[in-house]
Amino acid sequence: MSSDRIKIVWIYPDLLSTYGDQGNTIMLERRARLRGIPTETVHLRSDEPVPQDGDIYLLGGGEDRPQILAAQRLRADGGLNTAAARGAVVFAVCAGFQIIGHEFGGDEGQQLPGLGILDVRSGRGQQRAVGEVAGDVAAELNVPRITGFENHQGATVIGPNARPLAKVVAGIGNGDGQGFEGAYAGHVLGTYMHGPALVRNPALADLLLRWAVGHDIPPLDESWAGRLREERLRAVVPSAS
Ligand code: GLN
Repeated sequence: MSSDRIKIVWIYPDLLSTYGDQGNTIMLERRARLRGIPTETVHLRSDEPVPQDGDIYLLGGGEDRPQILAAQRLRADGGLNTAAARGAVVFAVCAGFQIIGHEFGGDEGQQLPGLGILDVRSGRGQQRAVGEVAGDVAAELNVPRITGFENHQGATVIGPNARPLAKVVAGIGNGDGQGFEGAYAGHVLGTYMHGPALVRNPALADLLLRWAVGHDIPPLDESWAGRLREERLRAVVPSAS
């Protein structure tokens, strides 16, 4: 953490914000403040430079063309790469997940360069993945089963320098043939889950906060969040109830 507060930078809401991704910023703010940690959030338009003093950078989903423009601008700016290289937290959803990888598929099937912050490669998948998705998270992250809503054409393959975020138990996820959803390395984490992901999976929000402050944070009363979680889990994975 660079100061007494967590600085959250929401990257390009004018281009990357579908299916309630803004809820991820609200969730981080709220769960930080409930621990007595102040936050400051910047909604960074795509014609503004990426600030270097952020603690958590969020990227949402986007349609194909806004996604291509966002990737071009972020590559030209270079600031997100610099922030990630110094260990800042990056949380990227769907189009954002594809952008932080090495390459992704454009609207006409062309391969386009990403930022190369996370060792993943995306292309156009055979069929669109639309619907609920759930997965069991890598044990070392200490996050219970996650759920979200996915809507993407892209399919993503994880390289040797990143790990799968979760093993899919319902839905498609990365569509890589391995049954994985999302990927992470260091403090950079990408996922196909909208919904928004951090509202539906508060433990994932806390993981990002722990990474940002560099130590454990106290648990919260989860009764309301737990009810929402259970409801979604029952809907997505009926066998789990
Ligand atoms: N345009 C990308 C795809 O279709 C990402 C979609 C999204 O962010 N929902 O794969």
